Amino acid sequence: MMGELMQPGGRLLLSKLGLQDCLEGIDAQVSTGLAIYKDGNEAVASYPVEDKNFPYEPSARTFHNGRFVQRLRQKASSLPNVRLEEGTVKSLIEEKGVIKGVTYKNSAGEETTALAPLTVVCDGCYSNLRRSVNHNIVPPKLRKIFLKGIDEGENIKAMPTKRVEATLSEKKGVIVLGDAFNMRHPAIASGMMVLLSDILILRDLLQPLRNFGDANKVSEVIKSFYVIRKPMSAMVNTLGNAFSQALIASSDEAKEAMRQGCYDYLSSGGFRTSSMMALLGGMNPRPISLIYHLCAITLSSIGQLLSPFPSPLRAWHSLRLFGLSMQMLVLHLKVEGIQMLSSANAAAYRKNYMAATAL
Ligand SMILES: Cc1cc2nc3c(=O)[nH]c(=O)nc-3n(C[C@H](O)[C@H](O)[C@H](O)COP(=O)(O)OP(=O)(O)OC[C@H]3O[C@@H](n4cnc5c(N)ncnc54)[C@H](O)[C@@H]3O)c2cc1C
Repeated sequence: MMGELMQPGGRLLLSKLGLQDCLEGIDAQVSTGLAIYKDGNEAVASYPVEDKNFPYEPSARTFHNGRFVQRLRQKASSLPNVRLEEGTVKSLIEEKGVIKGVTYKNSAGEETTALAPLTVVCDGCYSNLRRSVNHNIVPPKLRKIFLKGIDEGENIKAMPTKRVEATLSEKKGVIVLGDAFNMRHPAIASGMMVLLSDILILRDLLQPLRNFGDANKVSEVIKSFYVIRKPMSAMVNTLGNAFSQALIASSDEAKEAMRQGCYDYLSSGGFRTSSMMALLGGMNPRPISLIYHLCAITLSSIGQLLSPFPSPLRAWHSLRLFGLSMQMLVLHLKVEGIQMLSSANAAAYRKNYMAATAL
């Protein structure tokens, strides 16, 4: 299973791109929320149905990813200025720091080239091409233990649930998109939504350019993309990574209290459930609102941990829980940048990409 749930926010973005019919005829099922199970208890958390700020039907769709992707390909190839060609890209062609195109093996097995003023790299979570554009390395802190692992003959595997931070391409004439560009833990099933949001923003930024021949101009435009995308991308990245850490079962009492706190918060109904589901569904891309709810979950977990009366051990676990939670939040703030909290950015995102009038 990979990329099989399209959040309500993702459906809205799909419709903004004129691609909503790609969800039809693929046996997609309607999903109105989450069922949550923990220790024999179960609860339902629904997407808010009366969110006046969300101008689209508040439900998700689940489907077979392959069928959806084929529909997207059919739709793209039906455009008069698109020629679809299947092949495996071997490398990017670079001249004086500018990407000029790709060399690839076509379906007949012949190696050939394709040149373009702007190359879009979107080769997924196992991206090889990303490396030619950015020089991300193993953090120095991890090198020693990594080399020790190799020396001891460990079979080191890369899993697709990795985290890739969005970094500005160092080369001109190229843009990296999708999982090759930015990835978070898939716990909240929102990778496609972020990708659609990125495509919508880029479409609007690139549309006024008459052509992509001026690599400097295109680079300038692409730089602004990194800021505009923050409300949706930082919210999803933070929520996905925070949930993946908080929801793992643990014998550590502080961590377990956090996990129980998440369950209680999500299943409590009312404002807390609907707000969290609006965030999860991409219906309210406001990172600051997410930070508020993550703090509220932390405080209510601490309250639970201290009840019915605060013993020294419970107070100790509460302190640790607070520390763990703050550590997690500070890490995310560092990675995403403090501008993720900008209310003006979030308001501009909503106005430009989620308003009903532009549908
Ligand atoms: C376990 C898991 C579950 C997930 N569930 C969800 C979910 O329910 N909902 C959601 O929104 N997101 C989900 N995601 C995230 C989502 O799958 C990704 O964000 C999304 O698929 C990214 O799309 P992409 O096009 O960047 O990459 P991919 O979907 O990986 O597509 C990359 C494509 O590039 C091709 N390719 C690679 N190298 C080359 C090359 N050299 N030449 C030519 N082609 C090449 C690959 O064959 C592939 O077709 C999940 C992720 C994981 C890991």
